[in-house]
Amino acid sequence: MEAQALNKEIVFIDIDNTLWNFAGALYQKLIKNKYFVPAIEFWDWHFYKNYISDKEFKRIVNEIHLEQEKYEPFEYSMLFLKELRKMGFYITIVTDRINDSRYTTERWLVKNHLDFDKLIIAQNKKEFINNRVFLVVDDSPVMLSVALRKKVLYTGLEYSWNKTLKQYVPLWNNLKSLKEYVELAISGNPKKEVYL
Ligand SMILES: [Mg+2]
Repeated sequence: MEAQALNKEIVFIDIDNTLWNFAGALYQKLIKNKYFVPAIEFWDWHFYKNYISDKEFKRIVNEIHLEQEKYEPFEYSMLFLKELRKMGFYITIVTDRINDSRYTTERWLVKNHLDFDKLIIAQNKKEFINNRVFLVVDDSPVMLSVALRKKVLYTGLEYSWNKTLKQYVPLWNNLKSLKEYVELAISGNPKKEVYL
């Protein structure tokens, strides 16, 4: 871990469906490619399996990531990251996507004033969660289960594919509410175990 991270709590922030509406872009692309999947509100984590091969699904996901700069972040994303920085966190953006999309991802973050300290482009981001991470912000149920196992504080935006986990983790309708939760969590009680 680099020097500037040593004195700060590390937070992992996801990109897709956390900082922008990836699901919306994915739905459009799937329909355009004639994969008539159900509407987004009915998606679970494996919603596509009966409609499209894994290989073809990955191709479409990669295509979106390579065009990242075409898309807008959520309205509150910029402020969200700024507020977390103000709280003293070391912002690590952690995203599963092909390495070829690193350049466009970085440009997208910079162009939209989405402040970060470090960008991790991963193939399997859950492997990066360790006990030095204070908080994970992600919508993925897979990331959630790893965070729970490793006793890392976890929260995220609520979607149809993670809402059944609400009994274990706080999930929010928007980043502003999520930010307010983090604020409360660190001011009220800094012992992260309390929130698991
Ligand atoms: Mg995500």
